[in-house]
Amino acid sequence: MSSKRITHYINGSTWSGSAQRSGDVFNPATGELSAKVDFATAEVIDEAVAAAKRASVEWRNTSLAKRTQVLFAFREIVNAKKEELAKAITLEHGKVLSDALGEVTRGLEVVEFACGIPHLLKGGYSEGVSTGIDVYSIRQPLGVSAIISPFNFPAMVPMWFFPIAIATGNAVILKPSEKDPTPSLLMATYWKEAGLPDGVFNVVHGDKVAVDRILEHPDIASVSFVGSTPIAQYIYENGTKAGKRVQALGGAKNHMLVLPDADLDLAADAAVNAGFGSAGERCMAISALVAVEPIADDLVKKISERMAILRTGDGSAGADMGPLVTSVHRDKVSSYVDAGEREGAKLVVDGRNPKVDGAANGFWLGPTLFDNVTKEMSIYTDEIFGPVLSVVRVKSYDEGLALINSHRYGNGTAIFTNDGGAARRFQNEVSVGMIGINVPIPVPTAYYSFGGWKSSLFGDTHAHGTEGVHFFTRGKVVTSRWLDPSHGGINLGFPQNR
Ligand code: NAD
Repeated sequence: MSSKRITHYINGSTWSGSAQRSGDVFNPATGELSAKVDFATAEVIDEAVAAAKRASVEWRNTSLAKRTQVLFAFREIVNAKKEELAKAITLEHGKVLSDALGEVTRGLEVVEFACGIPHLLKGGYSEGVSTGIDVYSIRQPLGVSAIISPFNFPAMVPMWFFPIAIATGNAVILKPSEKDPTPSLLMATYWKEAGLPDGVFNVVHGDKVAVDRILEHPDIASVSFVGSTPIAQYIYENGTKAGKRVQALGGAKNHMLVLPDADLDLAADAAVNAGFGSAGERCMAISALVAVEPIADDLVKKISERMAILRTGDGSAGADMGPLVTSVHRDKVSSYVDAGEREGAKLVVDGRNPKVDGAANGFWLGPTLFDNVTKEMSIYTDEIFGPVLSVVRVKSYDEGLALINSHRYGNGTAIFTNDGGAARRFQNEVSVGMIGINVPIPVPTAYYSFGGWKSSLFGDTHAHGTEGVHFFTRGKVVTSRWLDPSHGGINLGFPQNR
């Protein structure tokens, strides 16, 4: 039984209360319980929101120059401590260290984007729209913004939002996944070291109880959520009902369409990297490979050859693929492999009972490959969120496109081809938010925005980039006239420009 306790971070300090409920945090590579994490009650959420609200008043009035200095300092600290952060991710999530470092680096891109906030917040100014009248626009912070994040990117996903929320003058309540809570707390200490005033960045841990209080709290202006689709829908419906601005990013089933003219070796490399990196626990993982005949036999052979040399094991010790996050999740993914077999797909590589370079009790499942998958099978319809790749065979580009467009998810997709015309047609015709052309995981860079279509996103604003700046601010337009005697007189007509 672990005696380590993880708790909330409110108003610049570790919370000193005692928790009524807590959750288990595991090291997925050993299966050991590594800590207990406190779960916030509604009262703890209220305490955090009160601190954030107080801090937001001063922070919104802090000059852009000073806010930017804090952001630059935070960037330097995260950069200097990225190994520490990556190790904490690996210990609680299980992903291999190089992957954890990659996640921190991608999160840092958003911090760097937010360092340019003075430019991003510039409004417009029109001189002389009418005689003696000028019009200009400004953008102001919302107040207190909540972020609710998933287990699979404990540093990067919060970093999609909080650098921009803070740079634009808001205070933040972050509720990370209860499965890997430590990276958020490390980032809270980095903010403090960077000079961010107490109360601007708070971390609360918990489950539905904490989330429900966040959704209904009258002093929280916005909610940025990332997680599974049913919860995203719940967050969107209840958050908007309570009058909040909500962006809720949900689940995914990402297709990779391989045309007959593609370089099959490069396509096989990409399918393996994007299918099994982070044990498939990425919202941009490729989980359905759509092979346009006659290439499927060759492609499946090349993919299985590559899978044979993948090493599954402890992410801190040089493996290619780590464990799954919990034993419950591993068992769920494994049950999909059983279902795929039952439903008649061809199991080409079976990841159940894998040979592992790690402790016996780790939450292991090896890379798994199915062929001849059809669109009715649960391994195709559902988001599995594990190292299971399904090959669907189609006869033409049109059949592949129709398949992708009929899926309920529309997060990311990729086409592999050497035909520029086909790729251009695909980017135009596919109903998906993020598209890769010979790029299997097309996560947009920070100055573009991240988000899917259909059941992969509820709300109309994607994460980061200029959409992020818009999400965390409200616009105002000012019409101004400096009075002189010629402006006198009574006129009840609607104002017109003269
Ligand atoms: P999850 O939906 O289980 O949890 C996400 C967050 O919601 C966590 O903070 C969790 O504590 C909270 N939560 C869980 N159950 C809740 C409930 N009943 N009521 C209120 N809050 C609840 O997701 P997860 O398993 O942590 O993460 C994996 C999922 O996230 C996958 O579906 C994946 O596709 C998705 N994801 C999507 C994106 C994207 O950009 N679209 C990015 C990363 C992950």
